[in-house]
Amino acid sequence: MTLAFLAAWLVPASVKAHSSEGPAFAPTCHATSGLDTTFERMVNSERWVCSDSDWRASDPVAWLKFDKATWDDDALPRFFYTRTARHSAIAIAALDADGTMRVEHYRENDGDPIAAGPKFTLDLPEIREETRAVLVRIERPHSIPLLTEARVSFDKSATGWSQRDMMLLALVLGMLVLPLLFDISFFVVLREKFVVLHAVLVIAMMIYVLSAGGLITVFVDLPVSALAIIAPLIWAIGMGIVLLFFAAFVEPGAQSPLMRRATIAIAWWTLLVPTFLSLQFHATQPFDDQGYFLAFVPAMIMIPLAVAQALWRGSMAARFIAVAWLPMIVAGFERFARGTGLYTGPSTLDQMLYFATAFEVIVISLAIAHRFLVLRRERDAALTEAETLERLSERDPLTGLMNRRAVLSRFEGLRDEGFDTFALIDLDKFKDVNDRFGHQVGDQALVACADAIRGGEGRDEVAVRLGGEEFVVLLRGSETLTRAEALRQGIAIRIARDVEGLDRVVTASMGVVEIPRDFNAMMDFDDLYARADKLLYEAKATGRNRTTYERLKVFRTPPAARPNLTGAEAA
Ligand code: GH3
Ligand code: MG
Ligand code: MG
Repeated sequence: MTLAFLAAWLVPASVKAHSSEGPAFAPTCHATSGLDTTFERMVNSERWVCSDSDWRASDPVAWLKFDKATWDDDALPRFFYTRTARHSAIAIAALDADGTMRVEHYRENDGDPIAAGPKFTLDLPEIREETRAVLVRIERPHSIPLLTEARVSFDKSATGWSQRDMMLLALVLGMLVLPLLFDISFFVVLREKFVVLHAVLVIAMMIYVLSAGGLITVFVDLPVSALAIIAPLIWAIGMGIVLLFFAAFVEPGAQSPLMRRATIAIAWWTLLVPTFLSLQFHATQPFDDQGYFLAFVPAMIMIPLAVAQALWRGSMAARFIAVAWLPMIVAGFERFARGTGLYTGPSTLDQMLYFATAFEVIVISLAIAHRFLVLRRERDAALTEAETLERLSERDPLTGLMNRRAVLSRFEGLRDEGFDTFALIDLDKFKDVNDRFGHQVGDQALVACADAIRGGEGRDEVAVRLGGEEFVVLLRGSETLTRAEALRQGIAIRIARDVEGLDRVVTASMGVVEIPRDFNAMMDFDDLYARADKLLYEAKATGRNRTTYERLKVFRTPPAARPNLTGAEAA
């Protein structure tokens, strides 16, 4: 849908661009020469090409001729303007019918950049009614559009893009702000390299849209030479970052190792070579224009290949990227064709690229948002799994009670929460149960026993299977001994009810230790277990199916001495 919108907008925009150039006149002929060729020599030269072909920016001098036939006497042209691009000097001659010539000489930075469109203007020498042609001599031109987009006009306002074009440019700029904010907030949560690369890309695109569209001149005074460099420089950096971003953003496995290496290698090539050529030094003038565009060829081959492979490998990221880049690729090829002089077109066609850029940035932001959700979902799943494992590792698989490990790690906390009664329970003659009825029946009895003591596992009881047929219940609150005894007695009942095929009652014995609060730090789990085990042994020795207990007491003996633990009362 967005594509349709883009197309619907672009077509009338470019058509309109042609018609808005009504009062501006394109060159009728063009030529190139060496540095020593003069205006006089060019007037009747054989070198003129009077068609829209054979444009070249690789010779030392390019010539343009605007014949009088293109304008009429009541609107004599007063300005020369063209696309902002590097060159070293421009001389403009008004050639009258009698052969007289008025010449104006300009250096590169005499050009007056306009705020609407990537263009600069120069004043023509006086054009009179008897002027039959305007000749322009451009020394060391670095770009074909510098020649093809040259115009003479009587109206300075005709030079720029329309207000609507500029509004749309500002809109594109505005569209880039949100993704940048997105990136920043994503990075806060998701410290991934691709988020940084995307942010760099968005900033580059903002600078590109600002400078290539000429908007930047509203804010800062930049000379033609600087303006001529910014846009191609940013474009080269942006393309390099795009490839680095791709390699960083697609899922692991979406690229073969070879493809990944190639992507990164070509990213660096693009970051270095076209970037260097975009600086347009005089030494590189014969080839930097074509060279700049040709230096993108590896990237332009790499991008579809890398995307195709990642799509083939089922990458979700690549699907987003394919949609995001399609308009860029179309607009990029158009710009490439225009930049290399394959055909000529108005500079407003650049806006296609700006929109494609904004579209790209927005779709990629969505892709990052999507990735963000996926990563979070994965993280949540991993957390849940870790929690499950943690829980599993703390539970006895047969009975579902807490295991020894769990109670050990929580024991101190439980003591602090007021669990002051330690009841150790052991089933009576359990070996016999196993021997007579089988291990499976024994297991059922263990489960029934666990259910019996779990029944009391409320806020004030914690049941644990220590191992084998040995259980612990920790209790707090009032009447802990009575409550523990009730649980113990419930075991035989529960086993009788739940386990089929038993012909005898399975009872349990219990040793209970009660610890006063002051003791909290004095005894750890093992100390209490040892005491409870002793009591349990007594219960077994005195006939089983019973409880023995003791309440520990503190005797405050001479200073600094440890409290004595003593006092046992049999139940
Ligand atoms: P006492 O009254 O003296 O405690 O006699 P007992 O037979 O219960 O004593 P002992 O501790 O020697 O026997 C424990 C038996 O518990 C040994 C083993 O066969 C059985 N047992 C331990 N763990 C399991 C288990 O997970 N499942 C089953 N079915 N039996 C178990
Ligand atoms: Mg036993
Ligand atoms: Mg035992």
